Amino acid sequence: MKIDVLSIFSDYLAPLELSLPGKARAKGLLDIAVHDLRAFTHDRHRTTDDTPYGGGAGMVMKPEPWGEAFAALEIAESDTIVFTTPSGDRFDQRKAEDLSARPRLVFACGRYEGIDQRVIEHAREIANVEEISLGDYVLNGGEVAALAIIEAVVRLIPGFMGNPESLVEESHSGDTAGLLEYPVYTKPPVWNGREVPAVLRSGDHGAIARWRHEQARRRTAERRPDLLAPSALADGTPIQRAV
Ligand code: SAM
Repeated sequence: MKIDVLSIFSDYLAPLELSLPGKARAKGLLDIAVHDLRAFTHDRHRTTDDTPYGGGAGMVMKPEPWGEAFAALEIAESDTIVFTTPSGDRFDQRKAEDLSARPRLVFACGRYEGIDQRVIEHAREIANVEEISLGDYVLNGGEVAALAIIEAVVRLIPGFMGNPESLVEESHSGDTAGLLEYPVYTKPPVWNGREVPAVLRSGDHGAIARWRHEQARRRTAERRPDLLAPSALADGTPIQRAV
């Protein structure tokens, strides 16, 4: 997969060198390039923003640097340009799965009051476009949103995770029918007087699977009932707070 990120604060994207995305790059599974949008300006101050038509507070990102950047990146019709914006579709695991199957993602990180609308319209003419929000809150810029989306997407690329089983049964994954993940434990068996549930040490894989499913269902009912199908909420078992 190829990922390009356009930003006026490229330093924000430094974490892409670290941890799993860094390893994926080293393995050759991922090619990520960060581009300074100011490289596509021509004035002495390398200006990327201007006052909004119609008045109002704040500045708006000018269209010309974006247009030049898209041309320089030789964007193809099959590419996807992702605009990070609080007015986009809310990002979730389904969207991460969808994006992980695309050959090239180009992230456009907004700043100020956002990007001139004509840039998004132009992008729709030359490529696929996604307008994605990280959640119902406002960040200062799109870089942190791009980082979060890239991390969620890149870990789904086949061959990326050392142990692909790690992706099975995760919260929000298709394998768990959208349930949150059950509680997890490791050694020692007793810590601070708290014991690991006996069933997890029983070696009975059927009992473990049943316990985990029930814990996942309870946790989801307590914390995110909106994720449960009505039938799962009303399956007869009273929901008690998980230990
Ligand atoms: N005036 C805009 C509005 O009210 O929708 C907010 C602009 S915000 C200060 C600047 C940039 O941060 C946006 O263009 C976008 O790229 C990014 N951003 C802010 N919140 C975001 C969110 N929840 N998800 C994704 N990107 C976000």
